[in-house]
Order: sequence, then C-alpha cells, then structure tokens
Amino acid sequence: TLSDRLTSVLQNLRGKGRLSEADIDATAREIRVALLEADVALPVVRTFIAKVKERAKGAEVSQALNPAQQVVKIVNEELVGILGGETRRLNLAKNPPSVIMLAGLQGAGKTTLAGKLAKWLKGQGHTPILVACDLQRPNAVTQLQVVGERAGVPVFAPEPGNGVGDPVDVARKGIEEAKRAQHDIVVVDTAGRLGVDEEMMRQAVDIRAAVQPDEVLFVVDAMIGQDAVNTATAFSEGVGFTGVVLTKLDGDARGGAALSVREVTGQPILFASNGEKLEDFDVFHPDRMASRILGMGDMLTLIEQAEQAFDADQAEAAAVKMGSGQLTLEDFLEQMLALRKMGPIANLLGMLPGAGQMKDQLANLDEKHLDRVQAIIRGMTPAERDDPKIINASRRLRIANGSGVRVSDVNDLVNRFFEARKMMSQMAGRFGLPGGGGKNN
Ligand code: GDP
Ligand code: MG
Repeated sequence: TLSDRLTSVLQNLRGKGRLSEADIDATAREIRVALLEADVALPVVRTFIAKVKERAKGAEVSQALNPAQQVVKIVNEELVGILGGETRRLNLAKNPPSVIMLAGLQGAGKTTLAGKLAKWLKGQGHTPILVACDLQRPNAVTQLQVVGERAGVPVFAPEPGNGVGDPVDVARKGIEEAKRAQHDIVVVDTAGRLGVDEEMMRQAVDIRAAVQPDEVLFVVDAMIGQDAVNTATAFSEGVGFTGVVLTKLDGDARGGAALSVREVTGQPILFASNGEKLEDFDVFHPDRMASRILGMGDMLTLIEQAEQAFDADQAEAAAVKMGSGQLTLEDFLEQMLALRKMGPIANLLGMLPGAGQMKDQLANLDEKHLDRVQAIIRGMTPAERDDPKIINASRRLRIANGSGVRVSDVNDLVNRFFEARKMMSQMAGRFGLPGGGGKNN
C-alpha cells in the first residue's frame, strides 16, 4: 500500500521543524510510485502529485502536528478530494417511483448489485422492484429472479415463451408495474457485453430514454485496473451516467480504479461492492477509501484527535519547558488532561505506528491510575506543583491524606515525575525540540 512506501520516507521527517523541498520531492516520488503500482491512471497521478506538492510547500508550520503527520494529512485530504469529497447520496424523484438504471460491461456485477441495492433500499424503508432488461444472456432473467428472491423483493420480467423480447419494452412495462403496485423505487438491470460495443450502447441509450432514470449507475469491476478508465470514458460518452458503483473491491485492495474513474469522468462513486453475498455492499465514503489506500487509518484518527484536543500555544510552551527541564507538575497535569480529552490512553498508544513495546510498558498505566495521579496533583499547593523539590516528608503525608491515597503513591508520583522530566529533557536534545538539551534537572 501507499503506507508502506510512505512510512520509510516519513521516518526521515521525524523531528524536523519544517518540510524542506527535498523532503517534499522525496515523499512525492514515493507517492507517485505507489499510485502507479496501484494502477491509477497516469494523468490522475500527475494531477494528484502536483496538488500535494503545492500544498506541502505552502504549508504553515503546524504546532499540533509534526512534519510527517502534516504530510499524511495533506495526502489524505487530497485523496479524499479526488475521490469525491463528500459522500454522495442517491438522487430520488419527488414523485415516486424513482428509477435507477444500471449500466456496465458483462460481468461487472450489475445483476448482483441489483439484489444488493434492493436489499439495502428495503432496509431503508423503501419498497423497490427489480426489472429484468437483460434479455441477451440466456440465464440473465433467472439470475435476477434468484437475486430478487434472496433480497425479498419482486422482479418484473418478460413473460416466458414469447421468444426474445424487447428490453426497452420490458423497461417501460416495468415502470408501469411499479406505479400500479406502488413501488417507490425501480431498479433496471440491463445487458452488457464483454467489450464496449455500439449496439450495447444504443440499447442502453434507448432504455434510458424510455425510463427517464433519476440515476444511471455505471457499474465497474475495480479489478480491471487501468481498463476501468477506458470503459468509464466510453460509457460516459456513449450512455452518460450520474454515478459510479465499484464492484469486486474485495479483490483489489489498492483502489486504483476508484481514484481514476472518479477523476476522469467527474462523476461520484455512490456505492462499493466487496463480495458475492448480498450483504457485501456499502455506501461509498471517500474518506474511508482514502484511508484504506493510504493504509494509515489509525494515524489519521490520531492526527484528527491531536488537532482537536491540542491547544497549540499551550503545547508549544510545554515543549519548551519540557526541553529545558523546567516542566512543573502543573504543566504535567495540564498535558495529562489534554491527552485524556483525546480518549483512553491505551487506544492512543495503539494508534502510533511502532508503539508495540511502549504499549506493553504502559499497559499498567490504566485509567484508574491516571485518576489517582490527577487527584494527587490536585491535592498539592501551587508552590508544590511549581517546584516539586520542596515536597518533603510532612508535605507528602498531608497530600496523601488530602487526596485519599497512600504516602507511597505520592512518593511514586514525585519520583516518576523527576525521572520523566529528565528523560524529556534528554529526548528533546536528541530530537531537536524547542528548548532542547536543558541541563536544569
Ligand atoms: P453482470 O454481468 O454485470 O450482471 O454481473 P453479475 O452480477 O452477473 O456478476 C458477475 C460475477 O461477479 C458473478 O459471479 C458475481 O457473483 C461476481 N460478483 C459481483 N460483485 C462482486 C463483488 O463485489 N465481489 C466479488 N468477489 N464478486 C462479485
Ligand atoms: Mg447481469
């Protein structure tokens, strides 16, 4: 995935204050290779890289995020943008029935989708009906009937034994049936061919004209990679569509087709299919797809939370203090409260790439313990928080009694605090944090 490539580049960005041109170029190169490997169409890759570079170069120094996180954030936002931004909902008619027509190559997954869509719509309180307009393949009608039965929705099909019927005629009659039986949504399944061909396009255009659909969904197999772009372009010009459904995403984790199709046709992706069963289907969310392509879902969550919870100025001030060894227990308490705002500590640590060993060490750092620490610090006077060195034996006893803990707990906290302060000061020196290398421990 993109994340494998990015991880190594991002490692070099750790501890840097600002992104250099060289850093940005190196990152862009890796993204480019990753996207091409994921079968994203070249023009789409170019546009994407250009956007990411431009934004990275103009990026302000962030106080909540480190440079590596900043790059991930930009890449992610551009990915979401290229995938369509907001989640797009189905367009339904003001006066039912709404008509949804499916188009696409043979084997793309239209008939399967008809069933999935029907089941999903039913779950949303609609009363869909399926219409079988694929009269080309011998078993196509039966297949739709089977799918409809599984989804628990009726299927309108031509009377058997009348020879090969006219799909446009069936489509029209299907709509009439929907009106008569008061179905609020009609899903029209159509025929496809193995390749793009004129007759198929003409038939699709005729059906479209006859049923005046509210949505024409172009169904495309995500596994066909680069070909998805050509097919999409052909359908876009030949029939026209209002939305895209990606199928067989279970077979293609890279998501290249998703990126290309949306960018090349300008039409949004509405749904995604990821398996043969009726349940293997979901509304398409650009942000989720982006995080899947990026492969850094947890890191993204962390970035989001960091931005929300962190008061940048406070963090900056604390960082300086930490680095210079002047951190007080008051700062410590503030930082802890800010951190806890972001959620349970264990979850936060789990999101950090490579936090494996640290997680074990901190497994006993449970929430109850944090509550106790909070209570102890609150039981101290401002002077004690400011300069923990003055906390002598009698003060420790008073604090312990005041906050309902044992004296050994207070000792523990104070000792650990001194240790932590020393460690932070050393770390700051090593990673070049502001105020780093202080010796005032
Ligand atoms: P149509 O010709 O466009 O109507 O395509 P079908 O609905 O008949 O599907 C073609 C084949 O793809 C069938 O074997 C389906 O079971 C399979 N299929 C459809 N959607 C998916 C999917 O999302 N994932 C997987 N793995 N298979 C799918
Ligand atoms: Mg079919």
